[in-house]
Amino acid sequence: MATLSLREEATELLQELIRVETVNPPGNETRAAELLRQYLGDNGVESELYAKVPERANLVARIPGNGTGPRLVLLSHTDTVLANPAEWELDPWSGDLREGQIWGRGALDMKGQVAASAVAIASLAREGFEPRGDLIFAACADEEVGTGFGLQWLCQEHPEAVRAEYCVNEGAGDRLVLGGRVFYVCSTAEKMSSPFRIRVHGRSGHASRPGIADNALVKAAPLIELLGRFQDTPELGPEVEAFLRAVTGSVPTPDRAVEAAREVHLLAGDLVEPLLGTTVSPTQIVASQGRNVIPALCEVTVDCRILPERTQAEVESQLRELLGESDLDFEWLEGHGGTRSPIDTPLWDAVEAFIADTEPGAQVVPLLLSGFTDSHWLRQAFGTVAYGFFPMRTMEPEVAARLIHSADERIEVEDLELGVGFLRHAAVEVGALPSGA
Ligand SMILES: [Zn+2]
Repeated sequence: MATLSLREEATELLQELIRVETVNPPGNETRAAELLRQYLGDNGVESELYAKVPERANLVARIPGNGTGPRLVLLSHTDTVLANPAEWELDPWSGDLREGQIWGRGALDMKGQVAASAVAIASLAREGFEPRGDLIFAACADEEVGTGFGLQWLCQEHPEAVRAEYCVNEGAGDRLVLGGRVFYVCSTAEKMSSPFRIRVHGRSGHASRPGIADNALVKAAPLIELLGRFQDTPELGPEVEAFLRAVTGSVPTPDRAVEAAREVHLLAGDLVEPLLGTTVSPTQIVASQGRNVIPALCEVTVDCRILPERTQAEVESQLRELLGESDLDFEWLEGHGGTRSPIDTPLWDAVEAFIADTEPGAQVVPLLLSGFTDSHWLRQAFGTVAYGFFPMRTMEPEVAARLIHSADERIEVEDLELGVGFLRHAAVEVGALPSGA
């Protein structure tokens, strides 16, 4: 039997993973977990399925260390968002290889990284790799919807399965060319997704006689305008500061940050702009159910993203002041994420060393994500140093951004192979660290 190259091995595994449809909801991630268990078992890596309900299993596999070093988890999720075949050029679950690209829902987000992580641990196991701390592979369910079947549940119910000092997950890895220089972005922190709702109260009445009612929808209008114009006082967190220093050559004052980044490249300014403070975007409104009934209640739902380590209480008082209503009916709907990992770590060094080797002259820069990933569960539960990094050298970041969660999602085989190389490198570097590092 001819042996496959790691590139071919990752390609085949990704194709198989794409063909196992795991659109969430409902997910049905157990089928992907079984496929991975089979593949890993064939390569001598034992794995365990952990499932809150049978059809939504999480898979955790490990190469046990000798206990003298920190653990590293290669984290991923096996569920995907939906796909409408009518919008696609190819069947979203074909896994077809065409002109050096593997097509299908999840190719970028994130079955490509699932496959690359699995091939990294399997190939290291075949080579007899002996890390000091455990090398863990965790392919989790339910990241896209987040209803408590995935990593959140694992951290609560089976913490020893996923406890680790270091983690590589999704989140970044884009290759940016800014001002003629090359940067690879590594996400080390995430804003908190913290939507809220305000309720504006009035008095209902017949719409033909507006004078004697108190229209809650009309009263909400000026509040929505205020929210739409909201601009937080800018501040530079450690990630944005390091990004600006690398890209612009100095650290501008917070109020000059966007401008300074734009002078290098428009994209740099666009990247930085939402990361300087809280953002609010009114997105949904509910008022009267009847055209001829003046609403007594108007509910406005607002997407809100808060800087890591800021609290909802701080932001709430800021918003109450902005809206200027002492009896404002205000409610936080949830608060997810808002965590950061330090930038100065051995895992960062491993990312830098890999890029220095892959593309000499390119620089790794940290980034705060405006969204969140599963990394925050590990940071919150164990204080894990978790980075989002899957280097994408061949596919342009603008192209990838357009394909994720959209039609014709696909990944370059070149990038898949590069990802395997990076994950193996990270495993070897962290696997050599002594305890306490
Ligand atoms: Zn994802």
